[in-house]
Amino acid sequence: MKYCPYCGAQLPDNATFCSTCGNRLGAAAPQYQQPQYPQYQQPQYQQPAPQKMSYMDKVRAARKNQKVKWWHWVLIAVGTGILMTLFPIGG
Ligand SMILES: [Zn+2]
Repeated sequence: MKYCPYCGAQLPDNATFCSTCGNRLGAAAPQYQQPQYPQYQQPQYQQPAPQKMSYMDKVRAARKNQKVKWWHWVLIAVGTGILMTLFPIGG
């Protein structure tokens, strides 16, 4: 049993012509090769380049800012209270 080098059909060993595609079978004929399907390559998702600030760093920074803001307002409130104590309105 051999295979047609052109179409891959199974042929008897003594076949001179392919009964499927009609091509002449010679010794120099190229060997039938299974069609090579391009291998599906999974797209490579590259990790984004490391940024200077990671997400958690940003969250921490935001919290820090909030904290700063919070203390800012506390300081203002305390300062206002001290001022109100030192200089009561309407005495
Ligand atoms: Zn053939």
